[in-house]
Amino acid sequence: MRCPLCQADNDKVLDSRDAEGGRLIRRRRECQACFHRFTTFERIEARVNLSVVKKDGSRVPYEREKILKGLRIACYKRQVSEVQLEKLVDEVEEELLKRGGKEVPSADIGLMMIDRLKLLDHVAFLRFASVYLNPDRVDVLLEELHRARWNGMGAPAI
Ligand SMILES: [Zn+2]
Repeated sequence: MRCPLCQADNDKVLDSRDAEGGRLIRRRRECQACFHRFTTFERIEARVNLSVVKKDGSRVPYEREKILKGLRIACYKRQVSEVQLEKLVDEVEEELLKRGGKEVPSADIGLMMIDRLKLLDHVAFLRFASVYLNPDRVDVLLEELHRARWNGMGAPAI
């Protein structure tokens, strides 16, 4: 790891511990050049080994990064942090693992994300939902929009 202070690539790990119930490993490091101490986080990768079945029936490997990218676009200029998005995807992955099986329809993943995004940020939710949902789910979108107005939030700018 490169020291964030002096850029030297020579550090010693002082301490390692699990965070977020074992999903993350937190390491306390010390630069051996300037003795600056910093923390790094390692995430366990490729926990979810699934085929995603797309609408046209084709299959692609599940990719966490692809999902995160879609969420980041939906959350553009909104008050949603990267940590919140990572956590959202963690929850979706956990649900997928609980389900078991080797394949999952892309629409299922989309709905899992939409459900959680709804709780995080309304505008991001509507942006994401409008892209992800099937046309026959537009009623859900309209219902949410209606509810948002009643809650005094005004019409979300999509
Ligand atoms: Zn240093």
